[in-house]
Amino acid sequence: MMNREDFRTYGHELVDWMADYLENVASYPVKSQVKPGEIAAQLPSSAPQAPESMTEILEDFNKIIMPGITHWQSPNFFAYFNANNSYPSILAEMLTATLGAQCMIWDTSPAAAELEERVLDWLKSAMGLPTEFEGVIQDTASSATLCAILSARERATNFQVNRSGMNDNRFRVYASTQTHSSIDKAVKIAGLGQENLVKVGVDEHFAMRPEALAKKIQEDKEKGFKPLCVVATLGTTGTTAVDPLAELSAICRDHGVWLHVDAAFGGTALLLPEYHWMIKGIETVDSFVFNPHKWMFTNFDCSVYYVRDAQHLIRTFEILPEYLKTSTRGQVNDYRDWGIALGRRFRALKLWFVIRSYGITGLQQRIRNHLDYAAWLESQIETHSDFEVMASRAFNLVCFRFHPQGEDHPETLNELNASLLSHLNETGRVYLTHTKLHGAYVLRMAIGQTYLEKTHVEQAWEAIQKTAKNLDQHPEEKATGDRP
Ligand code: PLP
Repeated sequence: MMNREDFRTYGHELVDWMADYLENVASYPVKSQVKPGEIAAQLPSSAPQAPESMTEILEDFNKIIMPGITHWQSPNFFAYFNANNSYPSILAEMLTATLGAQCMIWDTSPAAAELEERVLDWLKSAMGLPTEFEGVIQDTASSATLCAILSARERATNFQVNRSGMNDNRFRVYASTQTHSSIDKAVKIAGLGQENLVKVGVDEHFAMRPEALAKKIQEDKEKGFKPLCVVATLGTTGTTAVDPLAELSAICRDHGVWLHVDAAFGGTALLLPEYHWMIKGIETVDSFVFNPHKWMFTNFDCSVYYVRDAQHLIRTFEILPEYLKTSTRGQVNDYRDWGIALGRRFRALKLWFVIRSYGITGLQQRIRNHLDYAAWLESQIETHSDFEVMASRAFNLVCFRFHPQGEDHPETLNELNASLLSHLNETGRVYLTHTKLHGAYVLRMAIGQTYLEKTHVEQAWEAIQKTAKNLDQHPEEKATGDRP
């Protein structure tokens, strides 16, 4: 078994491995090329009885595990939304793992609780959020949204559902047709019934239509439903559409409905004053979530959740068994009462390292670079006769498709673009994903990786054009040889 000296030796070796990996990460096939079952087939069916050496374990890590890794930290990763790390964030994660502190309450690591409070205050003011907001770090936006819906449920019933169950409450939750699936999940878990999630129509920019929301709320009230919560999105998953917060918050205020803002991806842009138009109306928002683990260079997982009135959150989740009673209760934040899990990782440390190491201006610079590269790509697509932009761009996500001149059949275009995507991803040189907009198959390119430079975007655009051309000229052939 490993002793402390071995730990030191392998620790140094692994830090070198980590630095080499990040230096060369662009040379790996960005999307893992393995087939289903290929990794499992190389793993023994039962655990070893006898200890194995770290040398053997690391050999297998390189041989078996690495081929099955998709390289999210590759600057050629343009899929989904990024889940970025950065050097300071990784170093903080190493310390977090080493301390191994379980930060459920203030007493179990006062520095974790107080750092969390301070760092979230920093971010609140850097992002222009209301001073009365109080923050807590959650694992994911999915958990934060679930907290919001549960808190809304408890506020609406004076904490009666927590005591005696749902009874005959007929609640409704509203979100746009473009909302993330985590809202559906939260409504299911909260016991509200998925049928009571009302999907509201969107405008030509895929943003929620306020008048459609007002109408649905009115109709529901007339039918005897209780409108509970509206979820507005700043940066939808499909196209990064921004729901009109000012109008939505006025409607929520009129009807006494909880307004939760899902800015999981787009929230990071609030570090830029030029994006503060998005939060007009934030004064009456009840809760707000954004993910530094997406676009703010902080290792997954780290999701920041702000609430206007922490008492709703605490009263929804509070538990106080004898073994958790402390003499400091009431003077400090015991974050176990601010979310679902009792146990909590020390997540604030990596956020602190990232913010201090980049500085707010450094973060702003990186984000603005990404926005500039996305604008460049968008202009290339707009001026190309065989490609078209498919959604207005709010941030650094470009939605487009291949549309060769003279080919206008919707199904053929869908097949062509699905084929383009799979051929591109098979090359291992780039990784993009897709969405469907009004039935059209659309490629999404998220330009937000930590280590990304403009050349990576230029090379990706070259690869897209070449692969598409090859596909158009030889539709029956596989375009895998077409490496940029
Ligand atoms: N909300 C939006 C708009 C998202 O795009 C995503 C993920 O991409 C989520 C929520 C879920 O985030 P998480 O994985 O942190 O739960």
